[in-house]
Amino acid sequence: MPEDCVFCRIVADEEPAYVVDYDALTVSFLDINAVALGHTLVIPRAHVETLTGMNASQTGALFNSVRQVAGAVQRALDADGFNAFHSSGAAAGQDVFHAHVHVIPRYEDDDISFAPPRHRLTEKEGKRVAERIGDEL
Ligand SMILES: [Zn+2]
Repeated sequence: MPEDCVFCRIVADEEPAYVVDYDALTVSFLDINAVALGHTLVIPRAHVETLTGMNASQTGALFNSVRQVAGAVQRALDADGFNAFHSSGAAAGQDVFHAHVHVIPRYEDDDISFAPPRHRLTEKEGKRVAERIGDEL
């Protein structure tokens, strides 16, 4: 366990956290810097930096916990919906380099926005980029 990883310290019960759920492979706790009340982080117990560093069983366990926690957050906070997202790398906004998925309750009238500008793909771009990604799988 990296000593400087706050999430590993939470897993080891060496750092206080508002834990909402845990199982053999994951721990879920409130984000202390909440976007909205009920903002929860779901993490693998093992220290891996990002989603792409996880094996299939870790990934399955993580997203099963995300599914369960998201439903519980939505019911507990009487939310209209939720966002669940993972940021991988500093460029994507990752600030703690232990993989985690944010679960954020959402309401019809909240002022939260995750709506960056978008670009309509051209046919050439779509074909080229889909082929490049496919080549990497
Ligand atoms: Zn860690």
